[in-house]
Amino acid sequence: MIPTFGATAWGAAWVRTVETTAISRPDPALPRARSLARKGAVTGLTTEPGRVSAEVAGHRVAVGFPLWEPGADRLVAEADTAGLAAGDLPDELADRLRPEHGIAPPPDQQHPTCTCRTRAPRCAHVLATLYALAQHVDERPLLAVELRLAHPPVAAPPPDRIPLADLDPAGFYRSPAALG
Ligand SMILES: [Zn+2]
Repeated sequence: MIPTFGATAWGAAWVRTVETTAISRPDPALPRARSLARKGAVTGLTTEPGRVSAEVAGHRVAVGFPLWEPGADRLVAEADTAGLAAGDLPDELADRLRPEHGIAPPPDQQHPTCTCRTRAPRCAHVLATLYALAQHVDERPLLAVELRLAHPPVAAPPPDRIPLADLDPAGFYRSPAALG
């Protein structure tokens, strides 16, 4: 099966920052970048707030980008994740983040480096790394938040599991008299 890029609102935002150069004119590096990402040439992909790095076909790639401005963390904390799988985020949060903060940084805010000698600002290795990152974000949308916040919120436990210590025994074991 050929992996797709940008199956979720979160991954799609990262794909757009890759393909935005193709709007004005075709970028010959894009098909090559997609091919590199699809055949697994992007290895050792690591992420941290404001940075992604990987190795692509023997070249070391890193892309730095700014974190979200203050206020985005509040939107994330307010997001309703009830009923979602671990690592997933509601599309509604993407809609709230997009106007003011964006989801992925636009190309002019990205600082790519690669050990190859290509003089284009974003070589096929950099673009392949961003495609692979978009796939990771599709698989686990929470990564889109972890990339842009210095202190990502800790995922809350599922709401239907209450730690035993939080139960009040006095209310839990009611006496027969109280039931009458
Ligand atoms: Zn390169």
